[in-house]
Amino acid sequence: MEKLSNSAESLLEQLGELSSRLTAESVDEQGCFDKPLRIIHEALGFHISVLYKVANLIENELILEVVTVYSPHHVRPDLRQGAKICLRLDAPRAEFANEVAAFRNRNVSAINVPGWGCDLVGAIHMPESFGHGYLLAGDYFGEESGTQDYEVRAFEIMCNLLGAILMKAQFEKLAIYDGLTGLRNSRAIREELESAFQRQRRQNNGIGAIALADIDHFKKINDQYGHIQGDVVLQEVGRIIGAATRKHIDVGGRYGGEEFLLIYADSEPEQVLHIVERLRQTVAAHEFPRIGTDGTPLPDEKLHVTMSFGIALLGDLTVEHGKEILAKADRALYRSKADGRNRVTQDAG
Ligand code: GH3
Ligand code: MG
Ligand code: MG
Repeated sequence: MEKLSNSAESLLEQLGELSSRLTAESVDEQGCFDKPLRIIHEALGFHISVLYKVANLIENELILEVVTVYSPHHVRPDLRQGAKICLRLDAPRAEFANEVAAFRNRNVSAINVPGWGCDLVGAIHMPESFGHGYLLAGDYFGEESGTQDYEVRAFEIMCNLLGAILMKAQFEKLAIYDGLTGLRNSRAIREELESAFQRQRRQNNGIGAIALADIDHFKKINDQYGHIQGDVVLQEVGRIIGAATRKHIDVGGRYGGEEFLLIYADSEPEQVLHIVERLRQTVAAHEFPRIGTDGTPLPDEKLHVTMSFGIALLGDLTVEHGKEILAKADRALYRSKADGRNRVTQDAG
């Protein structure tokens, strides 16, 4: 394939577009590679572009998995989607010299590989806890590589961009859940509330309610038994709430310290009242494990804890933002507390 004379210019333009697209949208791991593979294929004029996932690294062996091959006239049978390739780091097969060099140096490799073998390979390196990363490759098959310097630089930019974007996606995922309870964290549950509220606004069918829940006299638990015990109670409550919320229907989150927010977007308000009342009973009947102030379990002792709840309707037409429904739930919760705790109160409207 003949390279266009203005390819450096058009490449720059495409990189700019790629950069703004990747930074503006939240991308999924597979989707973000589509555009770079097209750039390699079209703007850089490679015959074939390949995305490998670094599937594993065991001692001296690198295992690559072919995620995508982008080429209309694909002639390399070894590079089929899903194919796994095992390479020795110290003595790679000749046609994978660039793959191994890029992985080892965490950078772009453009060794001239005669015959089969990708001409240019870039590493998208990630911290190990996020997986081992990816390799992005381009090849002019049957030709001398003839890779230009600007193409190496462009590859480097693309790989760095993708690395940053993938890290961002991973951090976003980690940032949704609360470390102690395993439920959604405060920011995530507030966002859930706002979108459930907006959805209800569009449907306008009066369905749905939220509950704000607060552990009773939690400060006393901390003061009397220590913070580790307090944390264990929070963890257990998180587990009970997690078990009581129906997957993909209800959502629960840790709203703050010992307060939880539950969203029942697709249930009739009376049904929500029953669900929450059952949850209240489950918590009150639960035997919480006892932990000594030094962190050792005290198997012969158990602790009882209660929670108070305030319910407000999602279909409330008098409010404009999800936050206002939250304020109503908070008011109902305050009533539960004032009326003696360990109870469920619905907002009067
Ligand atoms: P009420 O029945 O009126 O809700 O009384 P309370 O004692 O539960 O409420 P208060 O707001 O006075 O106390 C909440 C306590 O929760 C104070 C704070 O130190 C504690 N807390 C907040 N977050 C955590 C946490 O992550 N771990 C532990 N152990 N305690 C926490
Ligand atoms: Mg509180
Ligand atoms: Mg409390």
